[in-house]
Amino acid sequence: MFARASVLGEVKGLRIHSPLGFTLELEARSSRAYVIDRPMFDRIMFHKAVDSGAIPQLGTSVRGISQSSGAVRVQVRSGGSLRSLSCSCVIGADGYKSVCRKEAKLPPPKHMLTGIQADLKGANIEKEFVEVYLGHAVAPGFFAWVIPAGDVARVGLCTWDANDLPASYLRKFLARPEFKGARNVSTTSGRIPIGPGRSAVGGRIMLVGDAACHAKPLSGGGVYTGVRGAELCAEVADVFLETHSKSALLEYDRLWKDEFGKELSRAFRIRRIFLNLTDKKIDKALRIFAEPDVRKLLEQHGDIDYPASLASSVLRLAPKLAQFSPQIIESLL
Ligand SMILES: Cc1cc2nc3c(=O)[nH]c(=O)nc-3n(C[C@H](O)[C@H](O)[C@H](O)COP(=O)(O)OP(=O)(O)OC[C@H]3O[C@@H](n4cnc5c(N)ncnc54)[C@H](O)[C@@H]3O)c2cc1C
Repeated sequence: MFARASVLGEVKGLRIHSPLGFTLELEARSSRAYVIDRPMFDRIMFHKAVDSGAIPQLGTSVRGISQSSGAVRVQVRSGGSLRSLSCSCVIGADGYKSVCRKEAKLPPPKHMLTGIQADLKGANIEKEFVEVYLGHAVAPGFFAWVIPAGDVARVGLCTWDANDLPASYLRKFLARPEFKGARNVSTTSGRIPIGPGRSAVGGRIMLVGDAACHAKPLSGGGVYTGVRGAELCAEVADVFLETHSKSALLEYDRLWKDEFGKELSRAFRIRRIFLNLTDKKIDKALRIFAEPDVRKLLEQHGDIDYPASLASSVLRLAPKLAQFSPQIIESLL
């Protein structure tokens, strides 16, 4: 398995807590997700890239890109001075603020989540279960999570269009009894762009990961789609360097859309339904998901990377879910 050394644990089950106290528990027979040490994962990726011939330029940032018919010039800053590099095409993997996205003239993300996460030692949580907490008071516009990550509990949340800072919601969330006496050993925060655009290619610039807004709209997870997008991008770049045909780069759009783009669009439509639900309706919806047939379907076929792909099967089993947004739900069938 890829980057095995960065795996801290495996997840078999999920508990989703409604704002009114109802809990939907889903347990799979086998592992459904890996919990990783992200800095170590990134280090492994870095070494693999160097081993494959990449030449890193640490401390160097892209400031601007100009494209002419023949080549691409990239202006970079390193050690306080500016210089220019010339190349055939650019793969922009520069995260949520992406300079490459602007230079490719591609639109900004539809929604920008703001997230914060703390690693706690000594929390009283169950191994192999992820807990998700929904509700406008807990994490408006998204959710809060508790993930067992080796010897720590990874506790975090994202918000969107909220009245207060994520840190303030996290402070309130950490007052839960299972975190009493636990010690915060590290805190991270960041932003996650969601809602992919129609294209991730602008001239000779291709975007991957957060730069392309490829994180999953329902979970905010961007590592899987980022890595898969990078693999697809590399295939396309390979062909482009042989043929120098611009249409070769557009093939990247076809590949990522086929592989995970439809899932992202579908998941974004489901997110729009979620955003319109009151706490009471979230509770009602979770109770429908807990009905035996629906729960069984979710437990047997739920895929953390493709959660929206089950939407039509779930709706066929539980048509009363249509009460939450008949038009949008129709478009998912
Ligand atoms: C609190 C929180 C928790 C999360 N939890 C999870 C999770 O459990 N699972 C999951 O899958 N995802 C998670 N995510 C999302 C995930 O972190 C991102 O989707 C993922 O990191 C995107 O990877 P990326 O390489 O596209 O961008 P980034 O990881 O942001 O990397 C971008 C890189 O580009 C560099 N850069 C930026 N600008 C420039 C420039 N101008 N020139 C040169 N370099 C530049 C940056 O320094 C950085 O190294 C979480 C996000 C947050 C905020």
